[in-house]
Amino acid sequence: MKALILHGKEDLRVEEVEEPVPPGGWVKLKVEEVGICGTDKAFYKGTYRPLKLPIIPGHEIGGVVVDVGKGVDKDLIGRRVTTEINISCGKCWFCKHGMPTQCPYRKTIGISIDGGMAEYMITSADVLHFIDDLTPAKGAMVEPLAAVLEGIQQAPPPPGANIAVLGIGTIGLLSIQVLRLLGPNILVGVSRPGSPKAKIAEKLGVDEVLTYDEALHLVKRKTPEGQGFDYVVEATGSPEGVGMALNMVRPRGVIIAKSTHGKMVSLDYTSLIVKEVQLVGSRCGPFPPAIRLIREGLVKVDELITDKYPLTDGVNAFKKAFSRESVKVHLLPS
Ligand SMILES: [Zn+2]
Ligand SMILES: [Zn+2]
Repeated sequence: MKALILHGKEDLRVEEVEEPVPPGGWVKLKVEEVGICGTDKAFYKGTYRPLKLPIIPGHEIGGVVVDVGKGVDKDLIGRRVTTEINISCGKCWFCKHGMPTQCPYRKTIGISIDGGMAEYMITSADVLHFIDDLTPAKGAMVEPLAAVLEGIQQAPPPPGANIAVLGIGTIGLLSIQVLRLLGPNILVGVSRPGSPKAKIAEKLGVDEVLTYDEALHLVKRKTPEGQGFDYVVEATGSPEGVGMALNMVRPRGVIIAKSTHGKMVSLDYTSLIVKEVQLVGSRCGPFPPAIRLIREGLVKVDELITDKYPLTDGVNAFKKAFSRESVKVHLLPS
């Protein structure tokens, strides 16, 4: 089969490899559509290292079950699915305390084991979710939406909150839609106003898209005592994002941190403490509510997929994923 293999920093190649065989309890998927995520981009740039190299990246999957390993119901064959990214052990302290995504023995698709940027991939039957009624494109958007829900679940905004979303890439645009459902007072995007992405953000629920300076100005005019937003989502994908978020959050406000660029950041740490800001890191999240939000059209995902490339053009797809005008780039392996 054809696969896109990352060998190291900016060394991505389309190669012919053996098709994977599902072991007991696992299934083989024919990958229909797979998203390029910010994490994949950081792997490509070499700022964040996958746990295995070379690796087939890709953890945002829409596909069909084509084979099953020992002990798995054959009726699964032909079902359209998406797979969770973490395959946990189910036995350790973290798994037993409701934190399977932090299982130290977990396998992580596209990070510690081969992922979906290939014609076929394997995953555990335990982490499949059925999406027979959704397109593969929507299926591949479940994982990023679940990751957005995780942060909001860990630290939800109060009703009627003043909210800023920094960065309006995939995570920003998904966050905007979920936060809009929670009835904010102010909901602004912080990026470059007037850009194609800003137009999408305005269509999907922000009051307006402001520059960073305009957002600081709005803080002074429109938030209580001019002290800042209640809730800031940092989804810039850049090391400067968290410092900007800290400057615009109010005392005792919340910053949801979502940028996995792999770089070191410098931060006014004392201000974080004096303002008693909650800085909430979060990664992978719950799939069932993400599927429900997409299925019911409460979160729109097709608008975010700006480019689709065949797998064989994967290198150009990655380059496109770094361009300013694209939001989410998908690969079509089959
Ligand atoms: Zn991702
Ligand atoms: Zn475990």
